[in-house]
Amino acid sequence: MLTRLNFIQKSMRQLLTTFSLTFKQWGLLLSLPILLSLGISYAITGYVVHDKAREVGNFNLERLDELLLQSDSISEFAMTLKEGDCGKLREYMRFRPYYRGVLLFNDKTFYCSSMTGNIELPLNSLLPEYQLKDSARYIVPETPARLGVPAIIVISKDAQTHRGAIVVLEGQYLIDSFIQPEVSPRPVDTVVLGLHGATLPSETHFGEGEVVSVLADDKEFLILLEMSNAFFWHFFWIYFGILLPILFIFLLLSGLLLWRKKSRHSLADDIRSGIENEEFFLVYQPVISTGDGKAKGVEALVRWQHPQMGLVRPDLFIPIAEDSQLIVPLTNYIFERALVDFADMEVEAGFRIGFNVAPEHFIQSDIEAKFIHLRDSLARIGVKPLVEITERQLLTTDICQRIEGLRQLGVLVAIDDFGTGQTTLSLLQTMPLDYLKIDKCFIDTIGHESVTSHVLDTIIELSHKMNYVVVAEGVETQEQADYLTHRQVHFLQGYLFAKPMKLEDLKLWLVKDRLN
Ligand code: C2E
Ligand code: CA
Ligand code: CA
Repeated sequence: MLTRLNFIQKSMRQLLTTFSLTFKQWGLLLSLPILLSLGISYAITGYVVHDKAREVGNFNLERLDELLLQSDSISEFAMTLKEGDCGKLREYMRFRPYYRGVLLFNDKTFYCSSMTGNIELPLNSLLPEYQLKDSARYIVPETPARLGVPAIIVISKDAQTHRGAIVVLEGQYLIDSFIQPEVSPRPVDTVVLGLHGATLPSETHFGEGEVVSVLADDKEFLILLEMSNAFFWHFFWIYFGILLPILFIFLLLSGLLLWRKKSRHSLADDIRSGIENEEFFLVYQPVISTGDGKAKGVEALVRWQHPQMGLVRPDLFIPIAEDSQLIVPLTNYIFERALVDFADMEVEAGFRIGFNVAPEHFIQSDIEAKFIHLRDSLARIGVKPLVEITERQLLTTDICQRIEGLRQLGVLVAIDDFGTGQTTLSLLQTMPLDYLKIDKCFIDTIGHESVTSHVLDTIIELSHKMNYVVVAEGVETQEQADYLTHRQVHFLQGYLFAKPMKLEDLKLWLVKDRLN
């Protein structure tokens, strides 16, 4: 638990040093998802509004098209009538409320109106004469002469007979019936129809909403739609509400991934420069013989005095060193460091220094030369090297052979954290080792009745049967020490006797240990 807390604390510190941003930069980083959500929501809503405008515009243009088609058939009918048949026209138009009426004309006068019957009006009395030259469509926005209402007029003229018809579509009807979808909030505030520069209604004041124009397929009519602000913001906030958490989580996750990559990378860089700058040092934890209660060796445990993060425990940086091909140079550095530390130390003959060595180390081509150098240098002061290999790591056949080769060289080999891996028994059978270090988790069960407390007894018995020298690690209480001594465990290591110590403290401790 403590180790985990420590790790979290270290990670936080690392996070802050890696992310040492100014207040402004933090502000920018946090406001990024907000700004992005605002921008994207604005763009999407703009698209939705335009899409709706096109939908409403096309719908109205289609309705207008239907009315114009009907006008064409009315004109066709009207133009088949003879000059005296005005009554038939009036009859024909009686039940067509969208049309104000039909006027028939020849090259001189208007001679028939579906509203008033036979008439005789000069051509220019209703419309400028040029408008009557060919078939055409116009918007008549004002009350022109005698039409009396805003209207769309459809003029059809036969070029040979010079006779023609004007169908007058009720403009007000069209204005009133411009269709808007019945949704809340309403998408469109104002609809205006345009043709040849004239509009229906004739005077429109647009508000603050966006005005979108939709052109008819034949490009004759144009519809202008003023989109409602309420509609825009309604959708805008919906999209914003969806996007913000998504972007926030996305950016947070990618930031974390980046940071993880970067921090791993930068920690690996730090380890590299740490080795060069000699920031790593060793602490030593004595290993006590249950026979006479004296220290027979120490385990070398690495520590890192990081220039920014302070003292870093191995749990944090050893896995990174292993991942980034730095464990071998680091371990080599540790060997050299121990040689320097012990150069002028006086210890009993056969004193052991245990080194934690990762399996990767054993596949190096120069491993034998390295260990011969270590063995011989330590032999000068009467010390034997001991290699601790954790049982959890993958021990391939090749590595096992290399380890066996080391034993032939006189290097002692211990299996570390015994009992926590899975290959325990088969490994013990295939690879003869010197020491077996029982993991702390089994020692912790002493005095507690549990399933694992029996496992400890089994491990000890098994070790004896296989003639292993047994070391119990993590011994914290006298009760544990007594229990293990009683079961002929050969060596004990733990806070009960000593915590890992710096070299100077170890020297004093060893003197006291010898005198007692
Ligand atoms: P480990 O090899 O199992 O080392 C024993 C760990 O248990 C050490 O932690 C030691 O300080 C701690 N310990 C010893 N006695 C007690 C006790 O009575 N109670 C408690 N609670 N803890 C005790 P440390 O030094 O933090 O090392 C942690 C691990 O880091 C080591 O576990 C080892 O796997 C790795 N490590 C340490 N130094 C090196 C090294 O030089 N090279 C490599 N490759 N790994 C190392
Ligand atoms: Ca160890
Ligand atoms: Ca261990």
